[in-house]
Amino acid sequence: MRPTLLAASLLLAATSAAAAETAQQAIQPLLPDITAWRRDLHQHPELSNREVRTSKFVAGELKKLGYEVRTGIAHTGVVGVLKGGRSGPKLAIRADMDGLPVTEEVDLPFASKAKGEYLGKPVGVMHACGHDAHVAMTLGVAAALAKRRRDLPGEVMFVFQPAEEGAPPGEEGGAPLMVKDGVFKDFKPDAIFGMHVVSALPVGTVALRPGGAMASSDTFRIVVRGRQAHGATPWKGIDPIVTAAEIVTASQTIVSRALDINKEPAVVTFGIFDGGQRFNIVPDKAELQGTVRAFDEGMRQQALASLKNIAEHVAAAHGATVETQIPLSADSSNPVNHNDPALTARVRASLETALGKDHVQEAQRWTASEDFPHFGRAIDVPSVYFFVGATPAGQDPATAPSNHSPKFFLDEGALAVGSEGMLQAALDFLGAAP
Ligand SMILES: [Zn+2]
Ligand SMILES: [Zn+2]
Repeated sequence: MRPTLLAASLLLAATSAAAAETAQQAIQPLLPDITAWRRDLHQHPELSNREVRTSKFVAGELKKLGYEVRTGIAHTGVVGVLKGGRSGPKLAIRADMDGLPVTEEVDLPFASKAKGEYLGKPVGVMHACGHDAHVAMTLGVAAALAKRRRDLPGEVMFVFQPAEEGAPPGEEGGAPLMVKDGVFKDFKPDAIFGMHVVSALPVGTVALRPGGAMASSDTFRIVVRGRQAHGATPWKGIDPIVTAAEIVTASQTIVSRALDINKEPAVVTFGIFDGGQRFNIVPDKAELQGTVRAFDEGMRQQALASLKNIAEHVAAAHGATVETQIPLSADSSNPVNHNDPALTARVRASLETALGKDHVQEAQRWTASEDFPHFGRAIDVPSVYFFVGATPAGQDPATAPSNHSPKFFLDEGALAVGSEGMLQAALDFLGAAP
């Protein structure tokens, strides 16, 4: 009996030691792995929907950690599920995996020399948005949770997502395709967490905000059709250039006159104005394309409806017609990256526990968009997304090379910060012992 008793008490001691461990203590021994994973991925970046090696790498590491693994979701997406030893809530944690068509200009022993093809042209490929760090940190959290599986309440699904930067033209991809491919078919989480490394914050700092954290993004296209005529006799035609110009001008009132900007800001930008073949011809059509950004779903819908209304009525006033694609397609849009306020308060407290109050900031709104919110919206559950500072101490985050730059540089201190913060947030959400 004695050896069994001894074994039982040792096991108990081990379990309570694991339970008493801080996030920092849990992540520290994993940092060599997390760093090695990040460097390997950094050296071998792959473009959106082409994350074949990355996908194999992630699935392999998850299997080693004892996860049930599903692959091939949205082409190269990987999902790993950990079932804790006790019952409890269900959480999903998402990491994006793709690199960008950027040629790396950072002098690192593990700098990328990878090549790919983008829009039919050969390009360099780089993890210029730091998704290598997201995968490595999230694997680190997966490893830490797997170690304490036995006393862990609830279940955690790790979602490794392809094509966050956007699928190549003509292809589907990213979060919407993972949802379509049934990522939540057998596992419906109660909440979803995500994080992103950013040059705009110093290493050691994380930031988040309740409500709209990143903007929605809707691409739009408006084709104005008039009637072609000689430029010397415009009255014989209908001028789509003047009409389109008035649509551009009138649309400036959407933000300045129609939206309640007490609530949230918004942006309407025209990026393409295309029409005409020759200086003395009134052409038969002009085309506009642009993007609408908002931080509130109601304001987003109002801006899109106003744009359509203005396009149709300005065109009608000139005797022209319009074809509108507002938005261009459901797949080309991202919803507002909305942090559930109650859950954000909880995650903020977790981040403060893990990193110290001084290292957690209120994030500014960011008019960039993310496809992460597709996950929460698809199954109507709250999500929280936070930013992890990547810029080395002594460098000004305001002027440091930004994400997507060939000089984007991640201070690897961020790996511990993001892993510890996410681990603590997960443990607290699951109701694990401190
Ligand atoms: Zn990016
Ligand atoms: Zn990114």
